[in-house]
Amino acid sequence: MSSSSQAAAAAGLTFPHATPPEPGGLVEIAPGVLWLRLALPFQLNHVNVYLIEDGDGWAVLDTGLGDDATRAAWEAALAGPLAGSRLTRLIVTHFHPDHVGLAGWLCKRFNLPLHMSQTEYLFSLSILLDQAGTGEEQLRAFHQSTGLNDDQIEQVVGRGHSYLKRTTGLPPSFLRLTAGDRITLGGRGFDVSTGAGHAPEQVMLFQPEAKLFFSADQVLAKISPNVSVWSMEPEADPLGLYLASLAQIRASLPEDVFVLACHNLPFYGLHRRIDELALHHKQRCGEILDACRAEPRSAADIIPILFHRPLDAHQTGFAVGEVVAHLNYMMRRGELDRETGADGIHLYRTR
Ligand SMILES: [Zn+2]
Repeated sequence: MSSSSQAAAAAGLTFPHATPPEPGGLVEIAPGVLWLRLALPFQLNHVNVYLIEDGDGWAVLDTGLGDDATRAAWEAALAGPLAGSRLTRLIVTHFHPDHVGLAGWLCKRFNLPLHMSQTEYLFSLSILLDQAGTGEEQLRAFHQSTGLNDDQIEQVVGRGHSYLKRTTGLPPSFLRLTAGDRITLGGRGFDVSTGAGHAPEQVMLFQPEAKLFFSADQVLAKISPNVSVWSMEPEADPLGLYLASLAQIRASLPEDVFVLACHNLPFYGLHRRIDELALHHKQRCGEILDACRAEPRSAADIIPILFHRPLDAHQTGFAVGEVVAHLNYMMRRGELDRETGADGIHLYRTR
């Protein structure tokens, strides 16, 4: 759920640990930082969780998916390599199930306080509380405007409340993290920053002395994080917000930080990777511009131009959201105009 699968090149990055730990396995990846890899039952087959030394115990950064297999992996780690150590608190970077999934269970079981940004906490809570699926009509209307056919729309709408199956709820209170905060873990200060685009207020941490940057899903070594428009905010510009966040990270952090991201391998080469991600989106905008120059196109028309492989219903939902993210970005910048046909489908043309 958290990341799109299209790979981008990762040339010139350095990976100090070229082999990840086995799922459920722990590695000390930096002084006072343990790397726990957890399996995901998707094409993206893993998520990285970090344990940061926090006095007489460990602060946990993200949880993995809220399913039985991940719970068992945590139990095994706590009975094995972590036996005798204490968990002190949980920090969650964003609301996606592979990151927040076991928050309810971990916090209750170990009596941990939860640190999260306000938007991510409330966003997760809003999905958990929307048992009636009140967003369904809006979901259908949004996908109709993209030009998907009726079968595709029903498949996307029919995916249902998978969020509830992949999460274990939230504790009833949380500690708010805000950009500019500094939290202290084991005597070390960690600067909090936030970024939008992939999720609304994703939390990242930077430890300046050790030059450790916990980038969450905002900067990943191999994957370009999913940046999508969702039906709740059809005119949103998540790509503009994402690119602004990348620029801000690049301006505020040096190139020689160790990037500890939530997927793929930890790496050096932050600026190089940010430039690659920004270029990737720029190239996609160029392809869309070319397509819309020839004739007006719907978002659905553009999917095969950007994704050169068959997509299932799940992937189609992500793909169309990504396409609309690029279209909204280009409209805001005056590169595209939009008209709406009698059938309600939005068509985009170059100016
Ligand atoms: Zn993720």
